[in-house]
Amino acid sequence: MEGMRGSLLKGASGSGSTSAGTGKAELPLVDCLHCRVGLIKIRSKQTTMYGEIFIKCRNNYRNDPTSCGFIRHVKQYEAFLCDLV
Ligand SMILES: [Zn+2]
Repeated sequence: MEGMRGSLLKGASGSGSTSAGTGKAELPLVDCLHCRVGLIKIRSKQTTMYGEIFIKCRNNYRNDPTSCGFIRHVKQYEAFLCDLV
């Protein structure tokens, strides 16, 4: 699973969110820390996680290890946003 760096964040006890609502709220899409371009939200088409939401950099391309490696599962992205604050 290339591009899945950061999976160590998975399962982090990400409580303490101050935003109202859980899960379904629209997440703000910040800029990629590496590329300074807006992140985009995608829905996985892989059968193993079909329909799962991921946030990734516009410069992240599957199967291209030289592209930006920023891709996060939406749950990881929530934790990532909390770290930014
Ligand atoms: Zn990037």
